[in-house]
Amino acid sequence: MIINTIAELREKVKEWRKSGLTIGLVPTMGALHNGHKSLIDKSVSKCDRTVVSVFVNPIQFCPGEDLDKYPRTLKEDEALVAEAGADIVFAPTPKEMYGEGHILSNDFLTYVVPPYFYVDKLCGKSRVGHFDGVCTVVNKLFNIVQPDYAFFGEKDRQQLIILKKMVKDLNIPLEIISCPIVREESGLALSSRNKYLNEEQKKDALALSKILFNIKACYNKGITDTKALAETAYAYLNSNHSLEYLEFRDENDLEEKKIADDNTIVFIALKIGDVRLIDNIKLS
Ligand code: AMP
Repeated sequence: MIINTIAELREKVKEWRKSGLTIGLVPTMGALHNGHKSLIDKSVSKCDRTVVSVFVNPIQFCPGEDLDKYPRTLKEDEALVAEAGADIVFAPTPKEMYGEGHILSNDFLTYVVPPYFYVDKLCGKSRVGHFDGVCTVVNKLFNIVQPDYAFFGEKDRQQLIILKKMVKDLNIPLEIISCPIVREESGLALSSRNKYLNEEQKKDALALSKILFNIKACYNKGITDTKALAETAYAYLNSNHSLEYLEFRDENDLEEKKIADDNTIVFIALKIGDVRLIDNIKLS
């Protein structure tokens, strides 16, 4: 069942609550794939009812990013959600979420702003304001659905860490459930943005997972100096790759690690042509 308005969704949620049912929320931007499906499956098995939101959130895109060309496949998304046994696709318009004329600057809209220490690094460094947009929309979705559980992928690990911090700091009464990264057999992490890649670029995109898997193998052999671990990446990079970052950070607070340990996450972002891809791996 698809719902486009906040009022209608609230009515539905009210009914469920009256009947004492637990509610799971899976926020997405659509163009759903098996990575998203793993989150939906988890919610369906854990909760009595599941809402999947499909909303390409304009305020988390920076100027010059791919907001206009971001893949929109609502019909297919609806089918995947129904197949997975979830109850509702919530697909609001930007106007429904942000109001008439949806004036999106923070001169006119109340934003939820995560702490600077969490956003001045990794994706937040090049995507200024991105996590303000994410926290704001996710907070709105939490208020609209009031779920017991919300499901997020480790694919967007910085986002997951920031949202956990938001829930803790703002005493939001729900639990965030983190879900492992789903990969193609080749190792490539599934992403809606993989649709932008041509065949050759798809081969180049394997560098991300290869670099991460190799770093993990080196760590398991006893190398813990993160500078030495980072240097192993160059063997996988060619002139088609533009490396944005390769960093070693703590899984809870994103503090930089000079010496890797079992709580270290290796984060990578690189561009192939115009396509920016991210991935990460935990070293334990
Ligand atoms: P998006 O539609 O890209 O905003 O992603 C919606 C949710 O799906 C986020 O919590 C992502 O982390 C998660 N997700 C996206 N790709 C994957 C994947 N390959 N494995 C696991 N979770 C994913």
